[in-house]
Amino acid sequence: MRIVEQEVLVAKNVTKQYSSGQKAVDQVSFVIKKDECLGLVGESGSGKSTLARCVLALEKVDQGEIWFKEKPLHLANKEDLRYIRREVQAVFQNPAAALNPKLKIIDSLMEPLDFQKNIQPSFLKGIRHQREKAAEQLLEMVELPSKYLSCYPHELSGGQKQRVTIARAISIEPALIILDEPTASLDVSVQAKIMNLLKDLQQYLGVSYLFISHDLAAVNFMSDRIMVMKQGKIVDEFSKYDLFSLKREPYTKELLHVFEG
Ligand code: ADP
Ligand code: MG
Repeated sequence: MRIVEQEVLVAKNVTKQYSSGQKAVDQVSFVIKKDECLGLVGESGSGKSTLARCVLALEKVDQGEIWFKEKPLHLANKEDLRYIRREVQAVFQNPAAALNPKLKIIDSLMEPLDFQKNIQPSFLKGIRHQREKAAEQLLEMVELPSKYLSCYPHELSGGQKQRVTIARAISIEPALIILDEPTASLDVSVQAKIMNLLKDLQQYLGVSYLFISHDLAAVNFMSDRIMVMKQGKIVDEFSKYDLFSLKREPYTKELLHVFEG
């Protein structure tokens, strides 16, 4: 398949079926371009996380193709997988589960950089191999004071823990970050702050996002383009400014009513 230079990820007719039941993801196609945030919205059980896991190569697709730049995820060999694991990072709903409770924040945060010694992120120029300084810089990028480096996860709030997982995701300067309900476990007041942080980081880093949520307001705030998923299928797709257009599918309008309260 031919990949256009500005396309970071291309999914074509992706289908995933668990051993029991219907297709969790059914013939889904989309493109994520450089610097863009693609939003994915749909109610619980619509297949969003399954699609995310397929894009992260954590789940094998049954049919279709997923290309990350020029690499075929659906056929990835070990070397391709290593490259993809570096270039495609993820932030999930529950930051407590993503951080080892027995590790100090600095050790969880620095895991990717400790493991990938040859990566030189542009924002760590000159301090890449000064571990504490690099960790401080990463925390600063997510607006956390460096005192947390020596703490354990239970000493941080949910929002602070999520900031640490975001810092870890950006630490090796990936091309794409999958954000699967990154604010769903947080208080409403914290949700807005985390979304603003994610937006600022995207601008600063020039990274692409796949932003997933059941909340259309959140997805519309974050994304340039939005896909609506229902029972494994993409049922509507539009650019952010067309959300209120009369052309929207009835299902999108239903989600919109939830959003408007
Ligand atoms: P969402 O993230 O939109 O809530 P999921 O991708 O988690 O949706 O789930 C889509 C469908 O696949 C649901 O019907 C769910 O029950 C099913 N499902 C998800 N994960 C598994 C799994 N590991 N094994 C079997 N069925 C699963
Ligand atoms: Mg989910």
